[in-house]
Amino acid sequence: MVSEADTRRRIPGTDRALADPVLALAAERVGRATVKAAVVAAADRARRGEIPPERVIAEAAAALPDRLRPLRRVINATGVVVHTNLGRAPLSPAAIKAVVEAAGYTDVELDLADGRRARRGAAVLAALAAAVPEAEAAHVVNNNAAALSLVATALAAGREIIVSRGELIEIGDGFRLPDLLTATGARLREVGTTNRTTVADYRAAVGPQTGLILKIHPSNYRIEGFVGEASIGELSTLGPPVVADIGSGLLAPDPVLPAEPDAGTALRAGADLITASGDKLLGGPQAGLLLGKAELVERLRRHPLARALRVDKLTLAALAATLSGPPAPVPRSLHDTVAALHQRAAAIVAALPGVELTVAPSESVVGGGGGPGVVLPSVALAAPASFAAPLRLGDPPVVGRVTDGRLLLDLRAVDPAQDAELTAAIARVAGSVTRVAGDGAPAPPGSPTP
Ligand SMILES: *Cc1c(COP(=O)(O)O)cnc(C)c1O
Repeated sequence: MVSEADTRRRIPGTDRALADPVLALAAERVGRATVKAAVVAAADRARRGEIPPERVIAEAAAALPDRLRPLRRVINATGVVVHTNLGRAPLSPAAIKAVVEAAGYTDVELDLADGRRARRGAAVLAALAAAVPEAEAAHVVNNNAAALSLVATALAAGREIIVSRGELIEIGDGFRLPDLLTATGARLREVGTTNRTTVADYRAAVGPQTGLILKIHPSNYRIEGFVGEASIGELSTLGPPVVADIGSGLLAPDPVLPAEPDAGTALRAGADLITASGDKLLGGPQAGLLLGKAELVERLRRHPLARALRVDKLTLAALAATLSGPPAPVPRSLHDTVAALHQRAAAIVAALPGVELTVAPSESVVGGGGGPGVVLPSVALAAPASFAAPLRLGDPPVVGRVTDGRLLLDLRAVDPAQDAELTAAIARVAGSVTRVAGDGAPAPPGSPTP
């Protein structure tokens, strides 16, 4: 028999509740008073017997405002389609469904036909290889940096990687490929110059110490003028395995991005292996894709480091659905026409009479994920710059870009299904009570003011 006094003793006091990591972080962000009020309310419920004492902290956390949750959903109106700070590729509805389904028990390492253990994610890897007919086999690791580490370790540790001086790149946030490669115990054998490297430069460097020849796509910059590089085809005649880090993860050529390398073309040209990111232009989950010769892929798969870099079942599920499903949001955004974007922008402006909002031409970019220098004509909503902060702090947060004293909300990376939400967010910020486009529901009142 649990006595009432016993129950009361188990209700945490505010000090103990505020020591909880989630509540402590919340207190830092919104102040102790707000969090304390949530704890007191939850403790009252426990005292009344409505919830068990053990639920008080969770109940208080759940009652806190949405904006305190870690990793919030954001509307990307920056015009940068693959925005690393916003989590790169948004998953397709099919991929999201697959992730949710795989979150429980799943046959990731079991053959349901005979009930025996199976190779992890075998069907997904087969689907990936099948998506690129030029590839004999495929393997997936945590991201492209992991793919490069695995390749460098398995094929060149204690030996040399031949690489052009024009391709020793920094991706962003201080992540430099040469540092990653040498951290594996491989030595870099730099050849050529910043702007020009010939096949003869590579040929002169090939020797018994060569582990592989690496060709890296400069994903986020371009060199113009007096430039020259050796082609994958030329390098493939030199003997050592040629590995191409294509970066963004296009599996086949895309006419919108003519200069962007793709896996199929690189393999057909003679690369033995390609590495790429899953969450850039493919529009899938964060992953490192490895495609190419079966013998090399097998060596990577069997290397002890492969276990440390292996992907979660959720990643495999999202990747499979991205490969088989309708186009993911990233490729769809990249192919949206200006006319379609214009129509959406005009509809939003029309739904917000009296709001200082116009349709404006804009320019989107692919982002750190690829297409350096490629500008995609786009359409934005232009609003006063004073809207920027309240939109960013709203729920859901809307992130645009301030240019020439105006806030531009570029629609290219905004899912059309989010237009109503975006309209409501602008309406709240503008402080006007207006009808939300599409569903006809009035916008919730109580807007933060600029
Ligand atoms: C983005 C990129 C990487 C790093 O890929 P992650 O998936 O972020 O680890 C490596 N190489 C190139 C050429 C890239 O564009």
